Amino acid sequence: MMMTRALLALCVLSAPLAHAQEPDAALLARARAILERAPLIDTHNDLPSMLIERNGGDLAGLDLGVAHPELCADIPRLREGGVGAQYWSVYTDAGNARTNRSLHEALREFDVVLRLVRSRPELELARTADDIERIRRSGRIASLIGVEGGHMIEGSLEVLRIFHELGARYLTLTHWNTLEWADAATDRNEHEGLTEFGESVVRELNRLGMFVDLSHVSADTMRDALRVSRAPVIFSHSGARGVDPHVRNVPDDVLALLPKNGGVVHVNFIKEFVSPADPEWQKRKTAAREELRASLDDEKAVDAGLAAWEKANPHPGGTIAEVADHIDHIRKVAGIDHVGIGADFYDKGTTSMVRGLQDVTRYPYLFAELLRRGYSEDDLLKIAGRNHLRAMRQMEKAAEPLRRP
Ligand SMILES: [Zn+2]
Repeated sequence: MMMTRALLALCVLSAPLAHAQEPDAALLARARAILERAPLIDTHNDLPSMLIERNGGDLAGLDLGVAHPELCADIPRLREGGVGAQYWSVYTDAGNARTNRSLHEALREFDVVLRLVRSRPELELARTADDIERIRRSGRIASLIGVEGGHMIEGSLEVLRIFHELGARYLTLTHWNTLEWADAATDRNEHEGLTEFGESVVRELNRLGMFVDLSHVSADTMRDALRVSRAPVIFSHSGARGVDPHVRNVPDDVLALLPKNGGVVHVNFIKEFVSPADPEWQKRKTAAREELRASLDDEKAVDAGLAAWEKANPHPGGTIAEVADHIDHIRKVAGIDHVGIGADFYDKGTTSMVRGLQDVTRYPYLFAELLRRGYSEDDLLKIAGRNHLRAMRQMEKAAEPLRRP
């Protein structure tokens, strides 16, 4: 891909910084050895959507047994990154809800994940915490399914039950948009959290043995879900507002509720949600957009103008150290038992993820940084996957007495 002059300048500027972040070889080797034992569980990767965008999800002729740098995951790079279990994201644009195509599109995503997992001997579908450990022990990568957005159930608990039957083990209550039954972080606050139906979705998830995922939802929705849920919740790909005050991130009062609930915040690597310098940059971008709109009628021209503005004013980025700052903060407020990893790789990563964590090979670099900060091996094992396994077992146990035909 052609590199613009602005981007090239950014790379040149950031090169010494990236170099400064290189951990020493001994720490990196220790981090790799710990991830071998963990297992490392990542709770969010958008490969299914990339495969659908690529060619409608046709897997014939695609060998994921060799590296595919144009995709956000492949077997050799997952292995290099030490990944033991991966949640594949079933995601469709919330805009599909307006044309009643959410369920249809969700089923296309399920179909791709299920075929993907069957197509590779290195992968196996995991439905339980025991499955994750068994599959990992056999030397394969446990594959799980997370549904990113409550719009895909189209207001139906029946659909939710079928999603569970197909293997889904979490439902993110909303994506970017507020639903009829739940407020999103990045849209209007219509219900001050969950409606009565929203609460029944949480109870049904508890009953099924599926995680309530609170990434993307408003703080009120987080609080309502934590009040109603009888099982640990997860944030499959979030950060801490105490580090980057983005609305997508988890506020301290919600983090403080996690020890009682047992839930886990899985930290993402997207620069926008990681970098503390992001909000100020977003403000300048919004002002630039308003200025363009004042002088141009055509929204396409505004978009083009904004793209030029972004080239001249690149995003401040984000670093491995800043991702570690989110982990530090969650440990401080919620405790070491409530932190995990959910990177949210969704594209080639070169512009969307923080420097140094641009693809699935890079997890050990983050863990090396945590070792440098004095985290113990036990702390690292917990963050890598044991917190998630513990929460999953608690969630499975909470479902037992609630089961009904
Ligand atoms: Zn997301």
